[in-house]
Amino acid sequence: MPKKELIYLDHAGTTPLSPGVLEAMLPYFTEAFGNPSAIYDLGQRARQAMEEARHTVARCIGAQANEIYFTGSGTESDNWAIKGAAALGAARGKTKVITASIEHHGVLNACESLKKTGTQVKHLPVDDTGLVAPAELARQLSADTALVSVMMANNEVGTIEPVGALAQLCREAGVLFHTDAVQAVGHLPIDMAALPADLLSMSAHKCGGPKGVGALFIRSGVPLPKWMDGGAQERGKRGGTENVAQIVGFAKALSIACEEMEAERVRLTALRDRLTAGLLALGGCVFNGHRTARLPGHVNVSFSGVSGEGLLVLLNLQGVCASGGAACASGDSKPSHVLQAMGRPLAAGAVRFTLGKTSRAADVEALLALLPKLLKRLRGMSAGS
Ligand code: PLP
Repeated sequence: MPKKELIYLDHAGTTPLSPGVLEAMLPYFTEAFGNPSAIYDLGQRARQAMEEARHTVARCIGAQANEIYFTGSGTESDNWAIKGAAALGAARGKTKVITASIEHHGVLNACESLKKTGTQVKHLPVDDTGLVAPAELARQLSADTALVSVMMANNEVGTIEPVGALAQLCREAGVLFHTDAVQAVGHLPIDMAALPADLLSMSAHKCGGPKGVGALFIRSGVPLPKWMDGGAQERGKRGGTENVAQIVGFAKALSIACEEMEAERVRLTALRDRLTAGLLALGGCVFNGHRTARLPGHVNVSFSGVSGEGLLVLLNLQGVCASGGAACASGDSKPSHVLQAMGRPLAAGAVRFTLGKTSRAADVEALLALLPKLLKRLRGMSAGS
């Protein structure tokens, strides 16, 4: 049987390394393998690369280098931000955390675990496009609020949240604001000099970098408690020898993504809109998310009379990689908490296609040509069962 060509439509799940990223990382596994805390030249070469990477990441989001702390993932950054800010608040008698019902589990479960220590967690609702309303946040903010955490862009439906307005409300109320920008970094312009957020989570593997490395932006002057006891790494806030090669790869990928951002935004928006129109033209298909306030590569639709998971299995057999929602939820057949919070019908038939740097018009056309046959087969199966 001829080998099927891979059609990768899960860039929100993870991305392939951008060209040049692996090459930038390799020396830190081989001749420049030194420990960045060591005093000799070999260690100092690693330290210099890491500090350059910190400056690059900072520049890409309009921050200062001393506001960037490297972590092991976006999930770790979320946990540090939320648990740290909650601890800070608790010490000041503030015991309420507000988040959105459509957050990634990195945020939702970090909040859930805070409940065990007496924190009150409030989940903001969203409308049927996935948007949080600033007026609703204004209603919920109170003197005992320690933190508000609302994501910059949703991973399942791609809806871009009004974080500028939400962060401003928090600034005025003297409440810390965190945003999970894992899906946004490298895809949307971010300027921490203009955005009044205190904490922002990032992850490398959603923008052409390696897995297992992320960063937390902590605004200068925010006394977030240290996250990991240990050595003096990350200015004493996160002990543990730094993952130099991954950090270098993160910075390289992010700088490429930021350089190409506008051209990619235009290219991907056109592809995304063609895919959306093509899917809806198939019939028996509804669109999930916001039509315009949406990440350039995101398309989430629900098919009637079809299980999303069943369709993903058939797509996989045809060499198509797509997802049913959050990557970490695949294999978990519960309907998406995001689509449920949005009150979307047919959540069980939802499929997420996410385009990225490697996506071409031919991928979109091949998918659209393939789907009628697969949908017919699945609908035939469910009619016969
Ligand atoms: N936050 C969002 C919005 C995400 O989409 C993801 C990954 O899917 C994460 C956090 C977790 O990032 P990581 O995979 O680096 O732990």
